[in-house]
Amino acid sequence: MSQRAIEIIERARREGRKVLLEPEAKTICSFYNVPVTVFDVAKSSEEAVEKAKRIGFPIVMKIISPDIIHKSDVGGVFVNVKNEEEVITTYNKIVENVKQAVPKARIYGILIQEMAPQGVETIVGGIRDPQFGPTIMFGLGGIFVEILKDVSFRIAPVDKDEALEMIQEIKGYPILQGYRGYYKADIGSLVDIIMKVSNMLMDLPISQLDLNPVFVYEEGKGAKVIDARVVLE
Ligand code: ADP
Ligand code: MG
Repeated sequence: MSQRAIEIIERARREGRKVLLEPEAKTICSFYNVPVTVFDVAKSSEEAVEKAKRIGFPIVMKIISPDIIHKSDVGGVFVNVKNEEEVITTYNKIVENVKQAVPKARIYGILIQEMAPQGVETIVGGIRDPQFGPTIMFGLGGIFVEILKDVSFRIAPVDKDEALEMIQEIKGYPILQGYRGYYKADIGSLVDIIMKVSNMLMDLPISQLDLNPVFVYEEGKGAKVIDARVVLE
């Protein structure tokens, strides 16, 4: 069990929050060696410039607010921010968009992160089922999950063979095998992420965990968590 993860969870609880912010959720993921985008938090546009330079352009900027669940729905996500000037205008734009969409939203800052190269979008999730306990989900992202409900489930703990089965079971599996113009995806790193998510659900008082999207790259090039959300018990 990761004591450092528990500390983050306890702090959120003391503040009366049931949902962890993206940087908190990603920090916990990194304690479990789940690969996440490089990120930092800025509380002013000057700080955003400084942190963007440290991470390296282009960057992605996102709202950090406990009152906003779908950041892009409120104009709270901007990708491909290319220089210092754009960091400042984007910072102000995000704050403005969010205030307009959700006037009472508390703004904790702006998340600055590396812009990850596009990969095949997948989703790894976990819920604590009242009957079965921690249950892990895998699927391809976007329309595959939202419209086709093409997902697979296993009850945790999920071992290596089961994680591989989860991936092979979905109807969209040929996409990960390099069907028609898709590259052969790094399935080993997805197996690894699924097992680690299973560990997180077993260890921590989490009722729901969504890694959405997880970009998976060509075989040998790994995968990366782009967005993370954790709901506490
Ligand atoms: P939301 O809260 O709306 O789900 P996300 O963090 O998932 O916000 O961002 C929305 C979309 O923006 C992602 O699905 C992804 O396509 C893109 N995106 C977000 N962060 C990054 C990043 N660091 N690198 C590349 N693309 C990103
Ligand atoms: Mg998302």
